[in-house]
Amino acid sequence: MSTLTLPPVAKSFYTLCKKCEGERYHRVLAHKTSTTAKIECEICKSVKTYSLPKTGSDAPSARRLSGAAATGAAKKAAASARSHSGQYEIFTSNKMNETAVPYSIKGSFKESQKINHVKFGIGFVTKTYDEKIDVIFVDEVRSLMQNRK
Ligand SMILES: [Zn+2]
Repeated sequence: MSTLTLPPVAKSFYTLCKKCEGERYHRVLAHKTSTTAKIECEICKSVKTYSLPKTGSDAPSARRLSGAAATGAAKKAAASARSHSGQYEIFTSNKMNETAVPYSIKGSFKESQKINHVKFGIGFVTKTYDEKIDVIFVDEVRSLMQNRK
């Protein structure tokens, strides 16, 4: 629909009258602005301001955009939940020729280091803290100690 215009002054048009609680003919008394006019109900003679309905579809399109973004975030979260085995495989192939360092709580480990845990087997350090490391094993990521003398 193109730009709406007000009905001309002295013309009557059909619109809702709140006083009559129904659709009534209203006579245009004067234009107040380009989108509002002073009108008078032909039945109850009440005078009110009529405003043209606002055009433009900015709000619905913005809502569509944020909806798409939300869907994308949900997909990303689902993908990261499924990625554990993928992450472990990447480490395994990248570190194929690296010798696994036997794990010990007295040891000091570096990020992405390949370790060999007596119980959990081959793992890769994903994050290091002062006295702790996060290690990805084939089944899950475990938090292990390090630097304990
Ligand atoms: Zn009325």
